[in-house]
Amino acid sequence: MSERGAGRASAHERRRHEFRPNYVSFAGTYQCNLACPHCSVPIEWRDRLPVPVALRFLEECRELGVEWLGFTGGEPFVYPEFVIDVARRGAALGFRFDKIVTNGAWQSGRAHAETVLAGLLDAGFTGTLGVSVDRFHPVGTAPVAEFCRAAAAVFRRDDVLALSYASPSRHEGLEKLRLLAKELGGAFEWSELLGRYLLVTDDLSMTASWNHLAPVERAEDLASAWDGRWFEEDWCEGPGQAFIVNPRGEVKPCCGFASDLDQLTIGNVREHSARELARRGRAHPYVGKVFREGLVAIREQVLRDHKNAVPGATSNHCFFCWFALTRGLAEGVPGRGGQIGRWCTEGPGTDGRP
Ligand code: SF4
Ligand code: SF4
Repeated sequence: MSERGAGRASAHERRRHEFRPNYVSFAGTYQCNLACPHCSVPIEWRDRLPVPVALRFLEECRELGVEWLGFTGGEPFVYPEFVIDVARRGAALGFRFDKIVTNGAWQSGRAHAETVLAGLLDAGFTGTLGVSVDRFHPVGTAPVAEFCRAAAAVFRRDDVLALSYASPSRHEGLEKLRLLAKELGGAFEWSELLGRYLLVTDDLSMTASWNHLAPVERAEDLASAWDGRWFEEDWCEGPGQAFIVNPRGEVKPCCGFASDLDQLTIGNVREHSARELARRGRAHPYVGKVFREGLVAIREQVLRDHKNAVPGATSNHCFFCWFALTRGLAEGVPGRGGQIGRWCTEGPGTDGRP
């Protein structure tokens, strides 16, 4: 469910280059009802983050000044009690809600979707439901349209839903979005004003965010990301400056496509407080450098030390990050992970905990 989202930092904050998270997002589970070919998270894990562990960390984040709260996965709604309980505490603590990223096809029917979403509304959730719709998600548009109708009926606000799609470029991979528009009786058009596509129906207005398809993990063979252009520095502001907590309690600094690599773990909520995790992120040999000096500085080091190991240029930040980390090209961190390694494990309690 990783995606490079819109930046949440202010212009002033963007000028300060260091790891200073303002966003916490929980993947209570990596389990999912789908198995997409481009998925970059280990959906084989059966771990679930216990609600009390998440609530304690959420409170620490608030004390630290973190303002935004989101949910990701796996499919967050296969563990609905986690999402609802954490959202309820988040609302009470005054968090601003970001997206809950969902495939919109987890429900057994419209009544099931409405029951879970009504619980979320009752918990005080005021964010958006970000539905992933593209050719990589192996599900028809009928259940997704059913989910959209359920959300519209429960929340009764036209901006409750947003869409996202993964493709090699912004204007490719729109077929399923057009089909969804047809299914909902709406229109799907490019907005010059917003610089993105919009799906509009009588009661919903959904923007569609493009995710630059990163051929990592299962998707390594789906496309080539060496497109001959080098990325520009963006300080990882969209997906980064975050505490992303996975089902094992491990904390990552971003929801970029490389973030499930062990090399981007900055600690664990079972062992470290939010304050310690911010400090550990700044002191981390790779994470600290990405947020302090930028990914371009990492690229320069990689090209200087391992020129022949890089087959070309890529405009995809997270793909480069993943490539450098899995191949052991970045200074200070070991290379491992990806399909060239053993990034997935199977069975319950794979981290040795009960
Ligand atoms: S819906 Fe998301 S989490 Fe589930 S398999 Fe697809 S990409 Fe992975
Ligand atoms: S480039 Fe790396 S550190 Fe930055 S957002 Fe992507 S995965 Fe995260």
